[in-house]
Amino acid sequence: MKLTRREFTVLTTGSLALAQDSGRKIGYCAVGLGRISGIFMSAVKLSSQARIVALVSGYREKAERIAEDYGIAAKNIYSYDNFDSISDNSEIDAVYIGLPNSMHSEYTIRAARAGKHVLCEKPMAVSVADCQSMIDACRKANKKLMIGYRIQYEPVVHARALELIHGGQLGAVQTLEGAYGFNISPRGATIKGVNRPEFRINAALAGGGPMMDVGIYALNTFRYLMGEEPAELTSSTSVIDKGGRFNGIEENMVWTMKFASGAVASCATTYGASLGPYFRIVGSKGTLQSEPSWNYDGLRMTVRVQGQPPAEITNPERHPAQFVREADHFAECILQNREPKTPGEEGMRDMKYIAELYRLAGRKA
Ligand code: NAD
Repeated sequence: MKLTRREFTVLTTGSLALAQDSGRKIGYCAVGLGRISGIFMSAVKLSSQARIVALVSGYREKAERIAEDYGIAAKNIYSYDNFDSISDNSEIDAVYIGLPNSMHSEYTIRAARAGKHVLCEKPMAVSVADCQSMIDACRKANKKLMIGYRIQYEPVVHARALELIHGGQLGAVQTLEGAYGFNISPRGATIKGVNRPEFRINAALAGGGPMMDVGIYALNTFRYLMGEEPAELTSSTSVIDKGGRFNGIEENMVWTMKFASGAVASCATTYGASLGPYFRIVGSKGTLQSEPSWNYDGLRMTVRVQGQPPAEITNPERHPAQFVREADHFAECILQNREPKTPGEEGMRDMKYIAELYRLAGRKA
């Protein structure tokens, strides 16, 4: 069945109000035209609140091919060198930053100085100091800053987990387990004929290994679902493949977090094998088990609560629904002058824990 854009928006946002055009759409400029920007742009095509109006790339021909797909005028294609002149373009309200991790801070700060709001991918940056500079630059320019924690906008599995934990049905949460990893290839993505080697295994660009990339899902989700901050941390890293793939980054990382309530979490991430994504949350009165828990779609969870039959929950939405929600949320924040649900401060909190976890494992973040 083919859905109209309005029907799709109703399905993905669950809200008729959101599906109604507000009359003005927020104009996004996508910075870095790699894998995630391709997904984000395809989601914005389905958005009732936003549109893609400009692109930033180091490859003019690639950008021109993408501009054709989105009906973007040639004058709205920028390079990294003339990026600052987006300040003169009133069609651009916000930039979406889909660059390697270590470039997030520079382009967020330059965008804020150019008078644009910023939706920046996770991880927010590669150091706490960079996160603080990004927050300061956006605050000084009176522009909004949101971090792309798409899972906090997922309305079925994660929203239900939040309800069950905070509604008391699980009783006191005792333990949490979560893991996410994959076997990384050094080849990287080829997009519209242009290949870049995988930035994730380049320590300078990635700022770390799988912890920065997919480990962050367990960290952020458990903080989000518990509504508490971890008070005690432990961690350990390893490299098993000595063939040169992991130069200056971890291949594997495990860590624990003890929350103020006493709930304890154990988490793992890897670039050496396909792992998860899953989480299991055990309370004194029930258990939540989700797998896959952090994919783009098909999220599932089994709920077992004492005295009730087990319940299976599945999110029926199709990719890129999570990104439509994210793009719409930030557009609404701009249109209605509201703070995003996942502001820069949320990204910086994760970065503080990641830096500490790396320090405890004997490596600087
Ligand atoms: P990618 O390698 O596919 O894309 C990166 C883009 O940056 C490419 O277009 C590349 O040309 C450009 N670039 C500019 N300067 C570069 C340089 N010096 N070296 C390398 N590339 C350069 O990466 P991706 O998978 O799209 O990831 C980008 C960001 O998005 C990362 O921060 C990642 O963590 C995040 N991400 C988030 C999600 C999510 O679900 N929220 C998923 C994937 C990636």
